[in-house]
Amino acid sequence: MANLIEMSNISKSFGGSVAVDRVSLELLPGTVHALMGENGAGKSTLMKILAGVYQPDSGEIYKNGQKIAFANPREALAFGISTVFQELSLLTNLTIAENMFLGREPVTRLGSVDYARMNAETRKALAELGLDLDSETLVSELSIAERQFVEIAHGIKADAAAFILDEPTAALNAADVEILNRHIRRLRDEGKAIVYISHRMNEIFQICDTVTVLKDGKLVGTKPVSELTPSSLIAMMVGRELQDLFPDRGSPSGEVVLDVKHFKIEAASMPFSISIAKGEIVALAGLEGQGQQKLMRSIVGQFRPFAGTVTIKGKPLPLPVPQGGGIRRLQAAGVGFVPEDRKEEGLFLGLPIAHNIAIGLHARQGELSIARSFRKTVAATMTELNIKAASAAAAVNSLSGGNQQKVLLGRYLAADVDILLIEEPTRGVDIGAKSEIYKLLRDFANAGGAVLVLSRETVELIGLCDRIYVVHNNTVVSELPAEKATEHDILNAALNA
Ligand code: ADP
Ligand code: MG
Repeated sequence: MANLIEMSNISKSFGGSVAVDRVSLELLPGTVHALMGENGAGKSTLMKILAGVYQPDSGEIYKNGQKIAFANPREALAFGISTVFQELSLLTNLTIAENMFLGREPVTRLGSVDYARMNAETRKALAELGLDLDSETLVSELSIAERQFVEIAHGIKADAAAFILDEPTAALNAADVEILNRHIRRLRDEGKAIVYISHRMNEIFQICDTVTVLKDGKLVGTKPVSELTPSSLIAMMVGRELQDLFPDRGSPSGEVVLDVKHFKIEAASMPFSISIAKGEIVALAGLEGQGQQKLMRSIVGQFRPFAGTVTIKGKPLPLPVPQGGGIRRLQAAGVGFVPEDRKEEGLFLGLPIAHNIAIGLHARQGELSIARSFRKTVAATMTELNIKAASAAAAVNSLSGGNQQKVLLGRYLAADVDILLIEEPTRGVDIGAKSEIYKLLRDFANAGGAVLVLSRETVELIGLCDRIYVVHNNTVVSELPAEKATEHDILNAALNA
């Protein structure tokens, strides 16, 4: 098979630091090529060079043996290279159709924008992807998963020979990932070359043919997926095995600090009770959208449960928790909440790390003790959590996903909470930072904290937690000790509920 696209000896530096260091990569038609490596390894930079966003400092790109070069993504697309970027690039105040046709709107014979045609073509593209969305919906009204999907539809709509998907599934749920994967397989079968960047192991093994691993901008190696196991792939990425990713489990005290009783998520759902003890990390597992998040968010006040009581350290929490004021009140009771979508709901992206951490301290301390002690606490938190940044004054949006998540965790750890409710603790976070976050959570529990965690990654729940509640159809259907649980057990419990 002729190689479709070849990147040869590509290097790229930013300022003094080398982001990509003499990397070569071949993309073959009809294959899905995974690009892996920890955050900062150079994956996005390499792909932005292929997409025409950056020019390489040295090295060449060939298509079917012919040297090609392009100055921008539009020119790259003319050579058949289509990219869905990691950063969501849709304009939220425009409709889906307007985004899809941005800069190349069709016009009617009278010279005005042909909205009818834009909407018709967009509807077709959305339907082709199995998306039940109206082309005239504003992007701001879409969930992040839906936005990500629209971007993917956009990429797929341009009939390119090569598709670059930079972490497309970080924000997608299991059902959406399945839909995406179907389309990737279809593109592959049509002879397209696909580059797929993802931190999710199971996706790599389900849909990729070849894996290239980068580390510190350098090529570690390229191998057929069939010759790898998750463990050996992780070893290529970090030089560490899977079991070493998780800290040892703790020894919970038995003293219940969060007690949820006779809880009904919806009027028609079965009541259930759960509890979490001091020193314990407890998981909410199950298929997508079975009520896990509603349960978590009922405690936070972002969802109104139908019935039940919540007791925090022996004190009843009046339900429903008021909207808006809920999180502040919880924080005063020593409960922290780390939401799934840290960019939209958790962090102030444009503000310095220091502000993002200190904001948690305001809820617990008197007005007078402000600046001086905060600076110390912030510095201590950054050191303790190994947050990699130029200084505490760096804006949070300049950090990698792993460091952003650590800032958000740091906010609550610095505020000395006793209970942490956390959604998707390692979404969009590389393996190295994942391991650090697991250890931070376990250290927090060992120091007398209690954690309730919700995650789509079952392997993570098994490795990290002490106990697992399986949620199905808005109720808890099973409780398992994590140490003995397998992915199969959890799926079984969820499916045979
Ligand atoms: P990955 O996608 O594997 O996480 P990136 O390609 O985004 O890695 O980053 C590789 C390195 O290049 C990192 O150290 C990152 O900080 C740096 N980098 C990426 N883009 C820029 C940029 N526009 N300016 C300066 N440094 C950058
Ligand atoms: Mg990246």
